[in-house]
Order: sequence, then C-alpha cells, then structure tokens
Amino acid sequence: MTQIKFDPMTGLSFAETLQQLLDRNPDVLHAGEIRDLPTARISLRAAVIGRKVIATVHTSDAVSGIRRLIDIGLAPGRLGESLHAVISLRLVRALCPECARPFDAESDAKSREAKLASVLGIAPVKRAIGCKACAGTGYRGQIPIPEVLLLTPEMRTVLNGSPNDVELLRAAQADGMRTFAEVGLDRVRRGDTTVEEIERVLGIVPVRYESADAVGPVLLVDDEEQDRALARNVLERMGFQVVEATDGAAAQSAIEKGDEDYSLVIMDLYMPGMDGTALLRTLRQSLSTQSLPVIVLTSSANPRDELELLEAGADDYLVKPIDAGRLEARVRAVLRRAGVRIASPTPS
Ligand SMILES: [Zn+2]
Repeated sequence: MTQIKFDPMTGLSFAETLQQLLDRNPDVLHAGEIRDLPTARISLRAAVIGRKVIATVHTSDAVSGIRRLIDIGLAPGRLGESLHAVISLRLVRALCPECARPFDAESDAKSREAKLASVLGIAPVKRAIGCKACAGTGYRGQIPIPEVLLLTPEMRTVLNGSPNDVELLRAAQADGMRTFAEVGLDRVRRGDTTVEEIERVLGIVPVRYESADAVGPVLLVDDEEQDRALARNVLERMGFQVVEATDGAAAQSAIEKGDEDYSLVIMDLYMPGMDGTALLRTLRQSLSTQSLPVIVLTSSANPRDELELLEAGADDYLVKPIDAGRLEARVRAVLRRAGVRIASPTPS
C-alpha cells in the first residue's frame, strides 16, 4: 500500500497529486474526497482503464451522491459506464441489551414510540428504558444503516437519460435499492433499535397536520395555581390535554416516566426547588428530550433573562401576566417549528 499526502505547499493541486499516485499503476486507488472536476475526472479515467477506485463525496444519501458527481461536471453517461455503486451510511444507536424491554401495547399506548410507529405504519417492538450500564440513555453502541445503490444495466440506461433526483430514486428503488428508512425500520422490527432513534437520525416522519388532542398533552409546570388555571384554560380551549406539575422535579419525573408523549412543555422560570432554568438544562442534556419544544413564562421583561433562556434552550418565552391570545400564538408557532401544524378545533 502506498499513501501520498496531499500538501498544498508543493504547489501541486489535489488532482495533480492524485495523478502522481495513479502513475504508480495501482490496482486499487483510494482517491479521498472528490470535491472538484479535475479530481473527479482523474478518478473516472482510472476507473475506465480498469482500476478499482474508491472515493467519497459528502452528501446525505446515495442518490445525492450521484447528483453531486454530475453537478461537479461529470457527464451522466460517462459516469454510468464506470460507476459500480454508491454506498451511503448513517449510524443509529443500538438499544441497551441490559435494560430494553418489549413494547407493551397497553402501558406504552401514549408514548412517542407508539405515535411515531403508527404514523409510519409499523409495529413497535422494544422500548429504550435506561440503566447504569447505558448511563440512563437506554442505548449502547451503534448500528450502521447503509443505503446501497448499485449501477445495474437498468440504472445505467436511466442515468443516460439525464434523470432528475426523483426519477433517479424511483429507478433505484425499482431496481432493488432499499432506502435508509426501510433499512432502519427493519432494525426496529428486529428489536435492535427504536422508531424514536430512527426518527432522530433520519427525520423520516413528515410534517403533520393534527388536531391538538392527537399530538400529546402539554406539560404545564408552575407553582402558582392561578397561572396554571389560566394557561390550562387557554390550552384546553385549543383542544390540548394538559398535565400539571408544581415544580421542576415533579415535571422531570413526569417526563422520565415516559408513558406520555408530551408535545410541549410550558414552564415558569421562578419556582421553589428546581427552577425553570435548571429543568430546561436537564431536558436539553438528554437525547430523548433535547428537541422537546419548551416555552418559558417569566415575570420580568429583563433582556438578560431572555438571552439566558434562549441560550439554555428555550424555544420561546412569554412575560407574565399570561395573555391568552399571545400564549395561543406562541404555542402554535413553537409547534409549527417542531413540524406539527395544529388544526383549529372544529366549533361544536
Ligand atoms: Zn441500559
């Protein structure tokens, strides 16, 4: 094996350095990352004369890998003649074998795992729990999720016709390519990981239009009974189910129980014991709640508070006293950014 280090100080370009390597007549050439047309051309030429060439391009999936090479300037027909395959790879976390437990249709019915699985039309198999062995995350180690696009004679014909990305993807699937989502959900069916984890990595659940009662309850955390009643009133009128907690610790244990798929947390900033900022930081440190939408209620319009809250991971904040119209608008906006559009409740 021979390696040549690319050193810009020699005055040679990456492509010229690669050509030097090729001049040594290797059987296999690992070309590194293809970023420009000269590098792409040399790699292609090496492949045409019978060398095995391995190279990387930075793209999000297999079809985009082909698109990238075409965008760099390679002719689709020429590319099709010498390209064997594009392999795209993602990693998802594997369930911890010590603590994962079978999905329970009854007690897990309201979990996020159950909801995501039903949107995707698959049956959940196991749930992530968390133990000492996995530092409470429920996951240990990683599983590769590959997407393999083979350039069969059929695909070469398609590529010759300068297809767009959708046509390319359809052709690849018709030709047997299994997408990230399919490969990933297979690992869910085998009990190796969860739908939640696949969704976290691949983001395969589309933007949903849902009624408020279908997206999961809002967790309302405030030590002031009057404020809770006011916010609950607004949320219930919007159609949400509401779960109340009187301080940060109670909220945290409600979330950790995992039997409800909370759509949103609305929390007071100033509470005795664990306050809003501490709860917020705890939520953002856990992978399972790092993207859970959070609106913070504060009693001062202090700009320093605002900055601190947003830095700690709040999606939005609202200054007390609670204004019903503002709260409703913020709830809609925050959920929309999380991919959920709340349908207005039908007037009864
Ligand atoms: Zn564990």
